[in-house]
Amino acid sequence: MSDVLLEVRDLVKHYPTQQGLFGGGGAKVRAVDGVSFSIASGETLGLVGESGCGKSTTGKLILRLQDPTRGTILWRGRDISRLSQGEMRPVRRELQAVFQDPYSSLNPRMRAADIVAEPIRNYDALPQAQMRERVAGLFERVGLRPDQMVKYPFEFSGGQRQRLGIARALSVRPKLIVCDEPVSALDVSVQAQVINLLMDLQQEFRLSYLFVAHDLAVVEHISHRVAVMYLGKVVEIAPKKAIFTRPQHPYTEALLEAVPVPDPAARRKRRVLGGDVPSPIKPPSGCRFHTRCPYVEERCKLEEPPLKEVVPGQFVACHLRQPVAMLKQEAVA
Ligand code: SF4
Repeated sequence: MSDVLLEVRDLVKHYPTQQGLFGGGGAKVRAVDGVSFSIASGETLGLVGESGCGKSTTGKLILRLQDPTRGTILWRGRDISRLSQGEMRPVRRELQAVFQDPYSSLNPRMRAADIVAEPIRNYDALPQAQMRERVAGLFERVGLRPDQMVKYPFEFSGGQRQRLGIARALSVRPKLIVCDEPVSALDVSVQAQVINLLMDLQQEFRLSYLFVAHDLAVVEHISHRVAVMYLGKVVEIAPKKAIFTRPQHPYTEALLEAVPVPDPAARRKRRVLGGDVPSPIKPPSGCRFHTRCPYVEERCKLEEPPLKEVVPGQFVACHLRQPVAMLKQEAVA
């Protein structure tokens, strides 16, 4: 999977705060604060972290639904981070999205077939019959019936609406889809169906996904690699197996330990991550996780740990972890 489609370098999004009844103007919310990663063709990168860590904002920046404050977004080697909306038009065809709540992202006054046809019309002037055939093919591919083409979004179940959202994203033959919590509003049994559909489509069309989610079980199932975010930063990024079997960052450890387990004995042994997530307006100095980290040292409060490769392919931002190169030197000495 070395065919890199998307590369994000030091991406930053700060929002200025507004003056309110209790003051507060002039500060910045550091929603995304120096995020870097890449996604290869046919790869799924899971993006996880607690609510407010910046994972959804990262997805919106990549889609250019919001402008980054700083940083670079390379799409197939081209910097798209400063393109105008007009210049983004051909890129949007290749870069689509599926959101958590398909109901709010589907026009309630349009029939399902027109919802799916709309993005195609933006790019291709197809004759009516050909358009109908293409839309019917998409309905079939995502598991919707032909008779549902004339229905309105409110006539679909939650899972069917998400299938409709996927058909619409797929309609312009994208290369990468940003999936922002695409199954978190669905029942567990329906979640599995939609995830399996996304995985089948990936195989068939060699799609790439940036899969933003808080449910670690879902992320483990669908991802090839996983990036863990905390307070606007990536603290660990590694192949899925490494993240779930030998996490190297204390925050990743804590997230995994917070996953509910059915066995009460196992539950008693688990460590619960204490404290609230600090404000992204004034993040802690040094390592942002130091106010909640069970291994905190003096140095952690002063120096920000860089993201470094501590095991081949596994990158971690923690002072406790040695970079691979240093480990090799120590072994030789
Ligand atoms: Fe914990 Fe220090 Fe590592 Fe941060 S750098 S995760 S505070 S041990």
